[in-house]
Amino acid sequence: MSAAVDVVVIGGGQSGLAAGYHLRRLGLDFVVLDAQPTPGGAWRHAWDSLHLFSPAAYSSLPGRLMPPQPGRTYPDAGHVVGYLDDYEKRYELPVERPVAVRSVRRDGPVLRVESDSGVWHARTVISATGTWWRPFLPAVTGADRFAGRRLHTVAYRGPAEFTGRRVIVVGGGNSGAQIAADLAYDTDLTWVTRREPRFLADDIDGRALFDAATARRRALDTGSADTGGVASLGDIVAVPPVREARDAGVLKAAPMFARLTPAGVVWADGTTAEADAIIWCTGFRPALSHLAPLGLRGPRGHIPTTGTRATAEPRLHLLGYGDWTGPASATLIGVGRPARDAAREIAALLKGRS
Ligand code: FAD
Repeated sequence: MSAAVDVVVIGGGQSGLAAGYHLRRLGLDFVVLDAQPTPGGAWRHAWDSLHLFSPAAYSSLPGRLMPPQPGRTYPDAGHVVGYLDDYEKRYELPVERPVAVRSVRRDGPVLRVESDSGVWHARTVISATGTWWRPFLPAVTGADRFAGRRLHTVAYRGPAEFTGRRVIVVGGGNSGAQIAADLAYDTDLTWVTRREPRFLADDIDGRALFDAATARRRALDTGSADTGGVASLGDIVAVPPVREARDAGVLKAAPMFARLTPAGVVWADGTTAEADAIIWCTGFRPALSHLAPLGLRGPRGHIPTTGTRATAEPRLHLLGYGDWTGPASATLIGVGRPARDAAREIAALLKGRS
């Protein structure tokens, strides 16, 4: 099939839906193409005990508050999936799935969006494909020699399959801390972080992170000194299971090891630890391979942007990948503003040409 449309949004997770909400409000002709068979984006794949780091009301997309989850201050991933499902129905967002976009190319006055289900000729494109689909594994000496099980955050489901095993969890961010807390009681756990874990104060959660990101944006917009944003507060939100494990003394971190062996890991001082499994909670990179034909990639694999707009291709916007596409834009509460800005810029561009 082949179709022409003003805006193609690639990705139907929270970022794509926030874009859809604002495109709908502006009366634009658009379609959202999503590779997943059902709503929810990356949240569909989260491990069972994952908690949001903010209460429901502070995890909301534009237009509709996330309802509280009964019995939980910090909702789980299933609750987020339900919210996103309801959100796209409520606003009648035109999401087509499963449709995996393979490439976006320039084709005269339009961008040609090629997918496994057909071609769209779009006057503009918003790419909102997230990061979950590109797990990052650091290069560590001997990694391919380790004989035990190796997995990344994306493949972790819960502690049951590791009960009684020797497990090494690598990573001092929220994923590493939450998964280490999950495994701290029923496995022989070693939690390894590159630097001493930095827990945020117990009364700080995603609300404060959002405030810090907003303050940073204001400071940068007005030419004031950089406040340091979220990174200045710490790395790990002490959600209840993390706090409990830390307070119980079972969440202690060792420094990063130097290399892997078939049996486990070795630290620089020669200390060793054997392991049945290593879980790499070492982050993600933006899923941008479909944009490769546009030749826009800059340093660190990012596409240079002005706001959300690709600096070298004004018909393309990027949404939700991280602070480089808008402060806190990779969060539920933070993506609304850059989504609005992207939709407005697109409306102005289309109006200028019609
Ligand atoms: P995604 O949810 O990844 O959605 C992208 C969609 O695009 C997916 O459906 C995907 O299938 C689709 N897609 C990808 N490539 C293509 C393609 N080529 N063609 C078509 N479709 C495609 N944020 C918070 O606000 N609060 C939290 O507590 C929080 N906790 C987090 C915990 C973890 C472990 C992680 C990893 C992130 C967390 N985040 C949190 C950050 C963020 O909210 C999520 O990463 C969120 O999933 C990002 O939404 P997104 O729509 O940008 O991307």
